[in-house]
Amino acid sequence: MAESADVLVIGGGIAGLSAAAEIARNARVLVLEGETQIGFHSSGRSATMLHYALGDALIRALTLASRPFFDLPPDGFSAVPLGRRMAVLIHAREDERDALDRLEADISRFVRLERLDAAGVRALCPLLKPDALYGIADCDGIRLDPHALLQGFARQLRGRGGQLRTGERVAGLTREGGGWKVTTEAGNSYSSQIVVNAAGAWADVVAGLAGVRPIGLQPKRRTIITFDAPAGTDLDGLPFAKTVGDELYFAPESGRLFASPMDEVPSDPCDAQPDEFEMALAAQRIEERTIVNVERIHSRWAGLRSFAPDNHPVAGFAAEADGFFWLAGQGGAGLQTSPAMSRAAASLILGFEWPLSGVDAAQLSPARFVGQPA
Ligand SMILES: Cc1cc2nc3c(=O)[nH]c(=O)nc-3n(C[C@H](O)[C@H](O)[C@H](O)COP(=O)(O)OP(=O)(O)OC[C@H]3O[C@@H](n4cnc5c(N)ncnc54)[C@H](O)[C@@H]3O)c2cc1C
Repeated sequence: MAESADVLVIGGGIAGLSAAAEIARNARVLVLEGETQIGFHSSGRSATMLHYALGDALIRALTLASRPFFDLPPDGFSAVPLGRRMAVLIHAREDERDALDRLEADISRFVRLERLDAAGVRALCPLLKPDALYGIADCDGIRLDPHALLQGFARQLRGRGGQLRTGERVAGLTREGGGWKVTTEAGNSYSSQIVVNAAGAWADVVAGLAGVRPIGLQPKRRTIITFDAPAGTDLDGLPFAKTVGDELYFAPESGRLFASPMDEVPSDPCDAQPDEFEMALAAQRIEERTIVNVERIHSRWAGLRSFAPDNHPVAGFAAEADGFFWLAGQGGAGLQTSPAMSRAAASLILGFEWPLSGVDAAQLSPARFVGQPA
């Protein structure tokens, strides 16, 4: 007989695990992850920052609503801190000053910023070239620890009676007896009233298995390289430094520096691999903007950031299929918004009071794509 759950979550990334842990307070939850480990795809490949230069007002509101969780995680969530304080510096040349002013106005509704002149920029990040004349800094940013987060949510899920199966790739989804029958490539069957589609870059593929119309999700590849900092650099004192446009960010990483050219190359869902061109672009932009020479790329990786057509995350039941819940399109902010998104998902699934102020359920609803080409 098929194993049963109230809610079956497809995907063991940050979205699926955080939602599963939250729902497991009030329902029997089972998570199926296709890979043999959790967080293998986007959630294990991110830049791990919590900052407000990402996205727009909705992403910022979700980040703000998530912040208390990272500052004060629930008792027993993790034996190690969920991150460490790291300042976030957005810097600009003379020709980028207007863009910096606009960004400052947008972000300062959500977080306290310091305005920096050229000397202030250099004091915070001595690696930047002298043409970085202006800056805004959030001195209270967090470099998140994705492994602590993923393990914490998995532990919380199990502690609340939920289950997690890895190496269980969902291959079939059919309506049966008023619920869903879920089959996996390994030949196992499960039944549940509700399925949560938290399959990251594969969310449209999973919808297709269920006969649910795709939302038009677009995975986009992003590349990161690591390399040595100049001898004598105080790595611990460096911020996460980002150009005001989406050109380059860099930060300290395990005794070295990491950088991304902030590439957004459309991709099919896959095990994303770094591309030579974007790696070279990262090195070139580092040399344009900083005094660092990238003599050797020490390591590299790439991951997919998956976006809905309006670049906003999606949480809500599909209109055309009972019990099919979308939790997708977290784009480049899925870690830092996971506490708020998981509470939103749990409230919609369990029929509880809406938990977020400053964000409406309608803003996240898949209903906004009905009638649009997928
Ligand atoms: C380079 C880079 C930098 C980033 N920087 C940041 C940052 O600084 N801050 C931030 O907050 N976010 C950042 N992100 C974004 C963040 O990583 C993502 O938004 C987040 O990880 C998405 O989580 P997810 O659970 O939806 O996806 P995933 O982690 O990809 O999880 C989806 C899971 O579903 C599984 N799956 C798919 N199909 C099936 C199936 N049929 N059956 C079972 N399982 C299946 C997959 O194996 C996968 O494990 C970054 C991402 C990248 C790539």
